[in-house]
Amino acid sequence: MMTEEKEIICIGCPIGCKVIGIFNAQKLIDIKGYQCERGREYAIKEFTNPVRVLSTTVRIEGAMVALLPVKTTAPIPKEMLFRCMKFLAQVVVYAPVKMGDVIVKDILGTGVDVVATRTLERMERKI
Ligand code: SF4
Repeated sequence: MMTEEKEIICIGCPIGCKVIGIFNAQKLIDIKGYQCERGREYAIKEFTNPVRVLSTTVRIEGAMVALLPVKTTAPIPKEMLFRCMKFLAQVVVYAPVKMGDVIVKDILGTGVDVVATRTLERMERKI
């Protein structure tokens, strides 16, 4: 049987166990190295459906800075991170914006919103 191994570090506690997933034809068939149930569950998720919260910035017009920090309201599939970053690179918002304002609803069909993580007031430009 041709198997493949992938390695992750469990972030469930400060011990940081090295956990190894064994795959056959892309399917997870065994896990080694975890020391507790929490670590086993974390590893299964990480090996089968890894997710991350996306934190980045979008362009903002009319504020004292050019970029507004934003993040997803929940983790999204890791494989969607790059596409979401690309999408957000095209987004421009206009001040004022309040922390928690929804900047993009249901980004790329993930069911997760992107919200502002900072309040930025409107600044009138002096000519
Ligand atoms: S497997 Fe358990 S003991 Fe090891 S790092 Fe994860 S949570 Fe901690």
